Amino acid sequence: MRIAVVGAGVVGVSTAYELACDGHEVVVYDRRSAVAEEASFACGSLLGPGYVEPALAPIGMGLRLSAHEMAWLWQRRKMPTGQSASAHARLLPLALYSRSRRETLTQALSLSFDQREGLMLLFRTAQDEALAQPHLQALRDAGVVAKPLSPTLARKLELALNTDTPLHSAAYLQEDGAGNCRQFALLLKSAAHTKGVRFQMGTTVQALQRHAPTVLRLANDPTPHQYDAVVVCTGAAAVPLLKPLGLRLPLVAVHGCSISAQIREPLNAPHSAVLDMRHRVSIARIGHRVRVAGGADMGMGHHTARSAALQTLYRVLHDWFPGAARIGSDVQEWHAEQATVLDGLPLLGASGVPGVWLNLGHGASGWALASGTARVLADCVLQRPPAIDLAGMGTDRTHTPA
Ligand SMILES: Cc1cc2nc3c(=O)[nH]c(=O)nc-3n(C[C@H](O)[C@H](O)[C@H](O)COP(=O)(O)OP(=O)(O)OC[C@H]3O[C@@H](n4cnc5c(N)ncnc54)[C@H](O)[C@@H]3O)c2cc1C
Repeated sequence: MRIAVVGAGVVGVSTAYELACDGHEVVVYDRRSAVAEEASFACGSLLGPGYVEPALAPIGMGLRLSAHEMAWLWQRRKMPTGQSASAHARLLPLALYSRSRRETLTQALSLSFDQREGLMLLFRTAQDEALAQPHLQALRDAGVVAKPLSPTLARKLELALNTDTPLHSAAYLQEDGAGNCRQFALLLKSAAHTKGVRFQMGTTVQALQRHAPTVLRLANDPTPHQYDAVVVCTGAAAVPLLKPLGLRLPLVAVHGCSISAQIREPLNAPHSAVLDMRHRVSIARIGHRVRVAGGADMGMGHHTARSAALQTLYRVLHDWFPGAARIGSDVQEWHAEQATVLDGLPLLGASGVPGVWLNLGHGASGWALASGTARVLADCVLQRPPAIDLAGMGTDRTHTPA
């Protein structure tokens, strides 16, 4: 088949690679000049099921919410108790599958993207630990080993953890870890290119048309481009793109941020990655840098929220790894939108419109889920039963008025 993939973040690049492995002729379109320039650029870098959760952070509100965002928040508030737990139970097999697919690709293609092994969940107080119990139980139910650690044992594994910051306990996930998402996407792009995938960068795809959904119209190009199938991997930008098809996606953009700073003293830096469960802030070693990420805010006019979120990142880094990084003018401060679906599950598989497929809305876990969702999507296109049950991940979920 001739297939167009719209969006060249880590999800679009992974999807294009998997489709090419199945022998399809694939063209990728992205409005940016390089791959992984939006949400996949400097994300938190955590990988593995220990981090994957439908609603990792409570969502803050900006001053000016659109009608779509207000409706989304309202519907989210009305969601039945237990919904988050069942979404989590559905996400974990996908996260495990994704890990295994990423490991296979990493080995087969000799990919090197600053991988580190091990993720430590940090509980500052007994209450933090108690609040995390449903998360830990869901991990155990999925067969993931999360080893409980005393503060002393935690500090033996992460030697640089600041002893001045109170630590009640920790949980250690040896098979989880961290890696550079953008680097992975760039390497996989090269591998996809070798398999014949064409990348049309700097090209904006206009809204799909109801009468011909697999004919792409590009900005500044009057020629229609006909495909057998189109896979949409554009994150939250899918809402206007798919609206003419009658698809009202329960999807909003939630804003997060990260800082990346050069390591000043390696002995003071994290060995791998930690997640402060109180502040929902991750700290990971990425090559010669430390990356700190967190925040979850909706709406425009959120500059104050953004600067408050950045200050939290600096504070949490200082709490756990003081002196680890060079904090000065060359710190990279970054923010981006993560496309988040009402119930925390991605939109994955057939859209309901013939020829149009979706792989988007991975919320705060798109890097961890990308390799698995890409393989699943490619299986669906080939009409081969996917390794993961996709129930609950379709477009048949509650729609907000757009
Ligand atoms: C602060 C922060 C921390 C995070 N930490 C983690 C983490 O630790 N672990 C984890 O697993 N995930 C994390 N995430 C989430 C993760 O970054 C995202 O889920 C993931 O990058 C989404 O990838 P994507 O390819 O779907 O989207 P993107 O990378 O945003 O790619 C979408 C692409 O579509 C293109 N596009 C959009 N519209 C059009 C159009 N009309 N025409 C052409 N191109 C178009 C865009 O240019 C973009 O390149 C974090 C996110 C943030 C913001």
